[in-house]
Amino acid sequence: MSHTVFRLRRYAIVRDEEPDAEPHSYAMECAVCSETGPPSTDADVAHDWVPAHLRAHAAHLTYREHVTRPYRAIPGRWL
Ligand SMILES: [Zn+2]
Repeated sequence: MSHTVFRLRRYAIVRDEEPDAEPHSYAMECAVCSETGPPSTDADVAHDWVPAHLRAHAAHLTYREHVTRPYRAIPGRWL
């Protein structure tokens, strides 16, 4: 018969600002056809995709903004 012991641990969830963190980025998605513009670390650059998409698809009038903001779990004390 096997015997397994589990221990609980606290973690703090913080914004990941380590050098290896993925970049904070923005991307726009058309809510009509689900096409997505290129991600950018600059929201204004990401938003520039919308008028270009609208010129090609005049009836696509609704969009979503996706924000990628990396977080990291920092191990704390054992419980
Ligand atoms: Zn579209």
